[in-house]
Amino acid sequence: MIIEISKISPEGSRYTGEDPAEVFELEGNPDLCPTGPIRYDLFAAIVSGGVVVRGRVGAAFDLRCGRCAEFFSTFAEDSDFIRDYPLREGCQELDLTDDLREAVLLRLPVYPVCRGECRGLCPRCGRNLNDGPCGCPPEPPAATDAWKALDGLKI
Ligand SMILES: [Zn+2]
Ligand SMILES: [Zn+2]
Repeated sequence: MIIEISKISPEGSRYTGEDPAEVFELEGNPDLCPTGPIRYDLFAAIVSGGVVVRGRVGAAFDLRCGRCAEFFSTFAEDSDFIRDYPLREGCQELDLTDDLREAVLLRLPVYPVCRGECRGLCPRCGRNLNDGPCGCPPEPPAATDAWKALDGLKI
């Protein structure tokens, strides 16, 4: 997304549009896939010595759930995007692409979970427990066993 500085009107200009999802450069990422363009709705204004750009930017993604490993859809959005670009001699345009991409990616969850009550996978058989119980016998609580073992050592 590029803003031509000379075209920003004195009272500021609004920029709405989208950049293709390719700007995320996430091809080949097994856990994260943009499913639509990066959408922006920004307002740029020339202030003393610079350009202030603020607004919102977001994109839709398919993310792999960290618990059950299934993909789910989400929309990552920075609704408080604000950047200050100093005006430099001879600089006629601002390329916001990297900043917009970074702002959206920072809104993605560090540990994506498809829903709060996701039951994840059975650690023993690997079955997705959201589809129902797997039939593995309930695991004995390990801590209790350790204490029992200590009891046995008592003389
Ligand atoms: Zn899940
Ligand atoms: Zn199981």
